[in-house]
Amino acid sequence: NGKNGTINGYKNESLNIAVVGGGLVGSLAALHMGKRGHNVTVYEYREDIRTAELVIGRSINLALSVRGRTALREVGLEDKMLKHGIPMYGRMIHNIDGTRNVIPYDRNSNQAIYSVGRKYLNEILITATEKYPNINLKFNKKMSGGKVEKGEVHFVDTSTQQEETANADLIIGCDGAFSSVRREFLKKNAFNYQQIYIEHGYLELCIPPAKDGEFLMPANYLHIWPRGKFMMIALPNQDRTWTVTLFMPFENFDSIKSSDELLKFFETFFPDSIPLIGEERLVKDFFKIPAQHLMAVKCRPYHISSKCVLIGDAGHAVVPFYGQGMNAGFEDCTILSRLFNKYGSDLEKILNEYSETRWEDAHAVCDLAMYNYIEMRDLVNKKSFLFRKAVDDL
Ligand code: FAD
Repeated sequence: NGKNGTINGYKNESLNIAVVGGGLVGSLAALHMGKRGHNVTVYEYREDIRTAELVIGRSINLALSVRGRTALREVGLEDKMLKHGIPMYGRMIHNIDGTRNVIPYDRNSNQAIYSVGRKYLNEILITATEKYPNINLKFNKKMSGGKVEKGEVHFVDTSTQQEETANADLIIGCDGAFSSVRREFLKKNAFNYQQIYIEHGYLELCIPPAKDGEFLMPANYLHIWPRGKFMMIALPNQDRTWTVTLFMPFENFDSIKSSDELLKFFETFFPDSIPLIGEERLVKDFFKIPAQHLMAVKCRPYHISSKCVLIGDAGHAVVPFYGQGMNAGFEDCTILSRLFNKYGSDLEKILNEYSETRWEDAHAVCDLAMYNYIEMRDLVNKKSFLFRKAVDDL
């Protein structure tokens, strides 16, 4: 292996790789490829997240689980993330009468998922790429088109409007749910594509720390207020705040037009959360930005020729109820890396096998995430006979 530039008899050469999108998955993909010695350039639409203001409307924290941890471990970043993350050992259910009960994730070995900050995670990943002289970061570069089947991508610099073309051996499309790379796939034959917007949206609220600077609720749980047709959840942050996310049909969001209506709604459905969030903050945050849409994408195949592949949300955007969108995108990096181990730099073999073997799991995560919304907002609180009836009624 590795002798004369081969792996398992396949050529193993250094490739020029263009990573489109420097979000969570793009920056991790760059690390995985950079670690292998390839020349990687990351083209990111936004400015450098390390110096940018926090973007409102995007989930502030995420649940990191085993899939994601494995991919982070492979680039030496798992421990750092776990040190920052807050373990959540189960769900803490908030009942309408103010009582709470715990449902552990694992009764035997105390496994946990970790609440991690999106910005922190992205920053650590981007900073880690700087250790590799063969990884080059380019910010404010928006992909505008290209001939991806030939390894060609066009970018526009969002500050100077200057155009730039990259010619790469491999383009890795990691530009998220509304992927521009994927748009090029849609122009080709035999590309299967499905996009679904669900009728529910989400809005983020915040529970501040207590007066003594500590958490206002038990920290090591994912808190859920299941209310049948809708729900609210809360994940802990390092600064002792909670990011609270309300998921609800848009018609319910639209029916709340004034602060009185909002407070009445919360008094009816989430009474114990009002003193935690605080009336003033609740009203301010609720009306700050409109509820955001949630979308799922399934597509297949994930590659074109031996030049371009889609990973992360660009290949499989999922609704967030299974907490696996980022984790599945991180796992894409692990799988691609293993295929490079198997086939050296033979991109035809690598991309074919990636597409063939990845879609079933990715589509399954998409379906499980849709199902888990019903589990979290409704079934989590039901006795087994009611649970069965609710599933039958689906
Ligand atoms: P993104 O994070 O969308 O990054 C794409 C990047 O590409 C961005 O930086 C963007 O600026 C850039 N880009 C876009 N267009 C272009 C272009 N034309 N040219 C160049 N660059 C471009 N997942 C979990 O695993 N656990 C959770 O708990 C969880 N919670 C979530 C909660 C909510 C409310 C939501 C909405 C999602 C949640 N997710 C969760 C899903 C997770 O956010 C996504 O799966 C993850 O962000 C996907 O990463 P990505 O890098 O593929 O895409």
